[in-house]
Amino acid sequence: MIKFNVPPFTGKELEYMKIAISEGKICGDGCFTKKCNEWIENNTKTEKALLTTSCTHALEMAALLSDVRPGDEVIMPSFTFVSTADAFVLRGAKIVFVDIRPDTMNIDESLIEEAITPKTKVIVPVHYAGVSCEMDTIMDIASRHGLKVVEDAAQGVMSSYKGKALGTIGDFGCYSFHETKNYSMGEGGALLIRDKKDVEPAEIIREKGTNRSKFFRGQIDKYTWVEQGSSYLPSDLNAAYLYAQLELAEEINNNRLDSWQSYKEGLVELQNAGKIELPYIPKDCIHNAHMFYLKAKDVEERTRLIDYLKSHDILSVFHYVPLHSAPAGIKYGRFYGEDRYTTKESERLLRLPMYYGLKKDEIEKIVELINKFYR
Ligand SMILES: *Cc1c(COP(=O)(O)O)cnc(C)c1O
Repeated sequence: MIKFNVPPFTGKELEYMKIAISEGKICGDGCFTKKCNEWIENNTKTEKALLTTSCTHALEMAALLSDVRPGDEVIMPSFTFVSTADAFVLRGAKIVFVDIRPDTMNIDESLIEEAITPKTKVIVPVHYAGVSCEMDTIMDIASRHGLKVVEDAAQGVMSSYKGKALGTIGDFGCYSFHETKNYSMGEGGALLIRDKKDVEPAEIIREKGTNRSKFFRGQIDKYTWVEQGSSYLPSDLNAAYLYAQLELAEEINNNRLDSWQSYKEGLVELQNAGKIELPYIPKDCIHNAHMFYLKAKDVEERTRLIDYLKSHDILSVFHYVPLHSAPAGIKYGRFYGEDRYTTKESERLLRLPMYYGLKKDEIEKIVELINKFYR
């Protein structure tokens, strides 16, 4: 059986978790949390990174920091995970869904400006499959209209756009370290903060609305409740698990990119023959092989391919049910303009097994079967 995902494990995780325990501090912001924050800051060149309990929570923090209020509108693609929208719906926002580009499955940047109204507050580009949205265009629109940009870079750790790490371009960036992502702590994430002025408010929100972070740095002699907040900091045990992988990020990234390339080479003839479509990487984007997908002709062909692979013990999956067609999406959002690609392309997309340590011969087997299916 070839699984769809195997959570990354490098071997040092348990050792680091033992160290965290022996330090006598397994709550939030212990030594491994600090190491992870610093790793992200050094590798992405962001002003500040704060480890969080999930990417969902990093998005919720970004919504609070963007001062989203009831009635405000937030622009995003409908082809994304629920949390992208939910984090803003929790603040009372109305979601305005914009169509995607069929080539990258990212928000179509050329449609964003028309979707802006006087109520618009935030644009949320989602870097699907770790491939960047067209950020120059999006940042230009945001600055001309005075909007915040929150990057959902859940899938984009180690990816970049024109040399800038994903998650560092907008006001805020959100990473996921869920077990289905490239680097994992089981459940976890990070908030990346571009501007210094947003760092202290973010620390307060993450620490239950208190100025405890300042207190721990010795900048004040007692801490107190100063703003709204919640508990968004993970246990240092989880951070210890993650740090073992961040240390080996290059190796994990290269291993995934090798797998990605093997899939591409094995399936490119089917693409050339017009049978399937494969991911497209724009020239300004360096990706992280978060996923390898193909697009079948339509939903029926995709279902047959999933069943065929399953009959050979290979698990492949699809996602997302477009949010604007989901019950909560209908209630809390609206689709701007025409749904030309979101629904149609989402029904064709199929994700193939992809994880750190996926073997070459396993990929060969999958590639061979898909070629056979189309013959
Ligand atoms: C995984 C994912 C999330 C949620 O991440 P969690 O860490 O599980 O909260 C949000 N957005 C996108 C695009 C994702 O892929």
